Amino acid sequence: MREIILIKNGELALKGLNRHTFEDVMIKNIKMSIKSLGQVKITKAQSTIMVEPQCEDYDMDEAAKRIGKVFGIAAFSRACVAEKNMDDILAKAPDYLKEQLESANTFKVVAKRSDKAFEYKSPDICCMTGEALLNAYPHLTVDVHNPEVTVMVEIRDYGAYIHADQLPGAGGMPVGTGGKAAILISGGIDSPVAAYMMAKRGVELTAIHFASPPYTSERAEQKVKDLLSIVAQYAGPINFIYVPFTEIQEQIARNCPDDLTTLVMRRYMMKLATAIAKNKGCDALITGESIGQVASQTMKALAVTDAATDMPVFRPLIGMDKDEIIAIARKIGTFETSVLPFEDCCTVFTPKHPRTRPKLEAVETAENMIDGVALSEVAIQNVKYERII
Ligand code: ATP
Ligand code: MG
Repeated sequence: MREIILIKNGELALKGLNRHTFEDVMIKNIKMSIKSLGQVKITKAQSTIMVEPQCEDYDMDEAAKRIGKVFGIAAFSRACVAEKNMDDILAKAPDYLKEQLESANTFKVVAKRSDKAFEYKSPDICCMTGEALLNAYPHLTVDVHNPEVTVMVEIRDYGAYIHADQLPGAGGMPVGTGGKAAILISGGIDSPVAAYMMAKRGVELTAIHFASPPYTSERAEQKVKDLLSIVAQYAGPINFIYVPFTEIQEQIARNCPDDLTTLVMRRYMMKLATAIAKNKGCDALITGESIGQVASQTMKALAVTDAATDMPVFRPLIGMDKDEIIAIARKIGTFETSVLPFEDCCTVFTPKHPRTRPKLEAVETAENMIDGVALSEVAIQNVKYERII
């Protein structure tokens, strides 16, 4: 039986004149996400995007899984393709819907007839299909108010499609419609979630990671790349930028007052990230910080961090509890990787008593105790690039 995927837009419908641009970006993202599965034909008609496989053994399960992660999609369904006549529809519907109907007690049929030339009207299509399904599954009863399964029969211009309930899409806006920003990514739980949340609003991501070998291992770097490739299932391909940070961290540890080292380090991260992000055409920075989670995330500490950059800093997790962040990390599939035990550059150099109410002048004085300008230049000269898909 030939199957296709029917996709409904989410917030896109609200975008008026921009709608087509948004749809086109979404179609591009859908194409990219299922590219490796084989040839498909993608068309848009009547507020629905249709994905039609062009080969026999197309992996529909995998395609549905991937399409379920593309932002901008409100809901989608896998549907069976029938010829535009009732005989074929009635022949195919019971078979195609077997799994859903066998495990349900009640159902109803809804018909949508956008081809007004079709020989039967919607109520007739519903009656005939309902009868065929009742014959095939006598244990079922019809419940028009609260059915367990809603069977849809859609008569469109180029074919008839049969499907059961829609699957929820990833929601949000298509990646690429919300500008470009740089996520400061660690191997922790929070920053991959922050990346996911901004991508969900249509933001295209560049990822910047600070590493301090030999204090941090190659496996820690690999962990960050693994996390990004999970985020990329939603966000699309991500440019990964690796920044060598050892020299700066060593100098900070050696020369700056112990209680300020974390903040001085965070400010250098912000400064370097700003230079790199601007160079890559980004308009904002993103971090995984949340108020009060650790000493460097008090409101005063965040203000000191912010003062190191002239770019907007987005912190999508700012008001969330760790539990809530973990729930998202589990949902998107990053949690298991995040909790693997490889040292991050922050943890290696964490002081015992970091300041929670720092003064900007004191931190600036501390940060001038090292030759930050020269060290930053060297770090930027030695960044490594990689594309994560
Ligand atoms: P995460 O779980 O994201 O590591 P965290 O709660 O451990 O966050 P911190 O270690 O203080 O908090 O880091 C705060 C934020 O700074 C992170 O969410 C991330 O955006 C950024 N960050 C931390 N370490 C790095 C790093 N090595 N490279 C790039 N960005 C980093
Ligand atoms: Mg961390």
